[in-house]
Amino acid sequence: MNAPAVKGWCPGALRPMDSGDGLIVRLKLTGGIVAADLAMKIAHWSRRFGNGEIDLTARANLQIRGVADVTLHGLQDAIAEAGLLDGNPDGEAIRNVIVSPLAGLDPRAVLDIRPVVAALEARLAGDAKLYALPAKFCFAVDDGGGVGLGDVRADVRFEAVAGPAFAIRLDGAPDEVLGPCRPDDVAAIAARLAGVFLGRRGDARRMRDWVERIGAAAIADAASLSLIRHSRESGNPFQASAPADGWIPAFAGMTLRVIGVGLPFGRISAGSLQSLAQQAAEASATELRLTPWRTIIIPCPSGEAAERLAQTLPPDAFILDLADPRSRVAACVGAPACQSATTNVREDAGRLAPLVGKHGFMHVSGCAKGCAHPRPAPVTLVGNDGLYDLIRDGAPADSPALRGLTLDEVAIYLRQMAAMDLQGPTA
Ligand code: SF4
Repeated sequence: MNAPAVKGWCPGALRPMDSGDGLIVRLKLTGGIVAADLAMKIAHWSRRFGNGEIDLTARANLQIRGVADVTLHGLQDAIAEAGLLDGNPDGEAIRNVIVSPLAGLDPRAVLDIRPVVAALEARLAGDAKLYALPAKFCFAVDDGGGVGLGDVRADVRFEAVAGPAFAIRLDGAPDEVLGPCRPDDVAAIAARLAGVFLGRRGDARRMRDWVERIGAAAIADAASLSLIRHSRESGNPFQASAPADGWIPAFAGMTLRVIGVGLPFGRISAGSLQSLAQQAAEASATELRLTPWRTIIIPCPSGEAAERLAQTLPPDAFILDLADPRSRVAACVGAPACQSATTNVREDAGRLAPLVGKHGFMHVSGCAKGCAHPRPAPVTLVGNDGLYDLIRDGAPADSPALRGLTLDEVAIYLRQMAAMDLQGPTA
């Protein structure tokens, strides 16, 4: 049933990835929607077949960690029994769709995008002509509602607009819109864009490389789409889009109340997932919504139910308040779970988090790959031979301003920065 584990591959359920703590099995849950009873099953699978640790990824997928070769088949059987196993590993690998977390629930959305997403995923998983897409190639479908996808990066974005219709944007060309695209055409147009990318990209690895090379207009032309210029306001996903990191106010006219709980550094234990799902069910919430901001949203039937649920959640396991310093730090799994790391990234990030200024943001990465936040940050620490290199206003692969810092030296640097932050700019 399964393909062999491949190091460095984007893991799936059929093709897991080897890591320092065993195999990683990724569950790509359509729309990031997880029924409460499925969440309990996943917690059980994590304990029974893995090491009891689960990641929530930047693409709103769940990863069961620490799976052994001997337990892999049992886990895959359980996933298949739950109806979550793809037909083949190639289709699973390219079924990468990030979705507005409140799809189908948000009255401010242009339309319920769940059928659109289902059709798109079915097309990606079933169209063998697309299986050559890079495994990281990704689509986003934004319903235009209150918890949109902001600047979550995707090779091809479908953004709902009045009509209803979708504006298509390509990574690397944020101010150009391709179209027209009706909701029923999303899957076919996505396949057409992916097809022309595959046929003509040359050695471009991702859409942004191809856009940089030939421009969005030429790509629109090749896919028989029109192109118009249309600027789009950008925002910081850790601020503008991060309502999911804490309480989300009730939406006007919405019968549901939703709360968001952040997962410190994207990690949740099987026990915490089990109790979150159980408490959610007791609060009459039927599902959890996974977000690309390492946060889980729980739609509750009333404000009282949401309050009750929040009071039962342990603050050490979840981020329940935006003032929690862990909400200002991104960190990858680090050593020993990742073989590319030489530092215990999450433990170090936890120690340093209280030193990050109130308005600051820091990324702690085990190596220059920067899995947790592959973008610039005000402060980025990159593990290097057991110490840290420090990059200011850059991405993990950029040149460090300081090299070979101990944790204590990083702490001194952060305290100085925080003090300057409090003093404000000097004349
Ligand atoms: S960034 Fe972290 S998780 Fe990613 S490869 Fe490097 S050490 Fe591993």
